[in-house]
Amino acid sequence: MAEPRRVVTDTMMGLKLPDYARLSDRVATVLGHNPGPFTGPGTNTYIVGTGRRPLLLDTGVGVPKWAELLPQALRELSNTDDLEKIVLTHAHQDHIGGVKDVVRLLGNKPAFKKPWPTPGPDAVAGTPITSIDDDAVVTTEGATLRAVFTPGHAPDHLCYYLVEEKALFTGDVVLGAGTTVIPDETGDLGRYMNSLRRLLDLDVETIYPAHGPVIRKAKEKIREYIAHRELRERQVLGALQNGPLEVTAIVKQIYTDVPEFLHPAAAQSVRSHLKKLQNERRVVEHEKRWALN
Ligand SMILES: [Zn+2]
Repeated sequence: MAEPRRVVTDTMMGLKLPDYARLSDRVATVLGHNPGPFTGPGTNTYIVGTGRRPLLLDTGVGVPKWAELLPQALRELSNTDDLEKIVLTHAHQDHIGGVKDVVRLLGNKPAFKKPWPTPGPDAVAGTPITSIDDDAVVTTEGATLRAVFTPGHAPDHLCYYLVEEKALFTGDVVLGAGTTVIPDETGDLGRYMNSLRRLLDLDVETIYPAHGPVIRKAKEKIREYIAHRELRERQVLGALQNGPLEVTAIVKQIYTDVPEFLHPAAAQSVRSHLKKLQNERRVVEHEKRWALN
């Protein structure tokens, strides 16, 4: 039987999410309002906890609309006007850009994340960062978050396991629709695959992703993500069967069902596969053409 062309077939395009909503007794969400082909309707930011000062997980890119919605959501969904702390999944702009808005609205709050390997990206938050690492526990009334180091999409990426709900805040590692981008410079597909396998070992039922809707079949989704990348890898290797090819030629062969305007993103994905395969000494590059080793 022929292999399917894709495992993950949905995309972020056309997705709509509410401005804010309560998702469980201890989790509510506020939409970041930074829409795009890879962010969907925008970054999901999460209010976590049951107390008068819950924590905020991720802050969006920092747009006025979100800064307007956050106090409304706190009032309406959590009956409060304050936050205890900020917890961040990683230093990409669409996750930490809104920290400055929180500081402006509510004053300085401790902000927790694993440091980016170089100082620049964390500084964007505009507030001192308290460094945490794998297995760190961050608590607030009614919620216990355990950090899970999950590099690959970003070198500083932490997911957070919500013990009380067997739920996982996956940041950009697993999304509510579509697939994750592995950036050329700072991404690493090999590490990303290991991160996915690590998440699969957790006792997780629900995923609260940084983009797209809540995922109720957590394990199924993680398995789908792993299968998707494994399929793409086989396709990349398959494309090279008949001789060396440039990245654009590989994209044309594999991404026949993806609209052309997404081909630059597809090329990024193909390059991430080639880099992984090169590290594993399974392919070689010569003058921009890739070949089986
Ligand atoms: Zn990201």
